[in-house]
Amino acid sequence: MRFEFATATRVVFGVGALREVAPAAGEYGRRALVVTGRSPDRAGPLVAQLQQAGVACSIFVTDGEPTLELVRQGVQRARDEQCDIVLGFGGGSALDAAKAIAALLTNGGELMDYVEVIGAGKPLANCGAPFIAVPTTAGTGTEVTRNAVLASPEHRIKVSLRSPHLLARLAVVDPELTFDLPQAVTARTGLDALTQLIEPYVCRRANPMTDGFCVEGLQRVAHSLRRAFHDGRNAEARTDMSLASLLSGFALANAGLGVVHGFAGPLGGMFPAPHGAVCAALLPHGMAANIRALRERAPASESLRRYEAVASLLTGKPNASAQDGVDWAAEICGELGIPKLGSYGVSKEHIPKLVAMASQASSMKANPIALTPEELEDVLACAL
Ligand SMILES: [Zn+2]
Repeated sequence: MRFEFATATRVVFGVGALREVAPAAGEYGRRALVVTGRSPDRAGPLVAQLQQAGVACSIFVTDGEPTLELVRQGVQRARDEQCDIVLGFGGGSALDAAKAIAALLTNGGELMDYVEVIGAGKPLANCGAPFIAVPTTAGTGTEVTRNAVLASPEHRIKVSLRSPHLLARLAVVDPELTFDLPQAVTARTGLDALTQLIEPYVCRRANPMTDGFCVEGLQRVAHSLRRAFHDGRNAEARTDMSLASLLSGFALANAGLGVVHGFAGPLGGMFPAPHGAVCAALLPHGMAANIRALRERAPASESLRRYEAVASLLTGKPNASAQDGVDWAAEICGELGIPKLGSYGVSKEHIPKLVAMASQASSMKANPIALTPEELEDVLACAL
């Protein structure tokens, strides 16, 4: 057995933890670029606390999933304003943008020198500027991962910037920030967290540390996702989901993902569909395809036993079958109103290209079994 585990330098979790951001930021620098989602007003209380702690703030608003161009603008703004800290406050998109801006601020050259696939993929030589991650949704776990997903609209592709230097100096996860999330956001981000707990648990690179996080996270999702969706101000349910999201970030960054995220990258690049909604629409079909392929070609695989464990954790039934887990996932996607992929414009004619791209995706490499092109086509066709 050999594994490695890396995460944010410091993680603070709890209702009210937001108050700890400003004092910590004051130790890292004097001027913060505060990267927010499309409602910068939500960061108002945090900005006031930062100013009180002697940290000047410059607000940088991101609208939707970050593009390479947006990151370039953010780096320019941070340089112009002489920012020495970058703080991400928002969903996965704002945090990924902030993460990339912090890294580029201390590394010379162009963003394209460092991104994979369409860029040169050079390693980042220097530590980024101190990056503080404050998620306001419960789903992506990006506060503790070492990659930032960026879109290149001209190439209709999403690419990652990856480096240990992207890990946050501080991640503050305050479930209170999620109490007012709309139901649709709760649904898709919560189901992204679920996917990010199942895929690392059954994947080829699972390790005992990530296993522990996945089991804990799956229990919390099983217990609380429905409650968080139907009763948004239920503090216990929201806390469970924030924790599940954080645990999913630990797991995916240190184990890997699988077929669902293998498709989510290319789909997100080609269609204007939120990441979590794409993952949710694919999840039951990706699980079913893996289970079928494992039964046919690797019936002794440990991953099959793990799919049974997932099913037991989700259904609460000790003798649940792998299929029970698939059914549970399909049912909750229906109950939470997850749209099919066709509603984002994905149709049959896109399947060959998406299968070709997904086969090359880094997430696919950790899938518990290599799926054939026909099996991959089937996963997508079922989710349309
Ligand atoms: Zn995800």
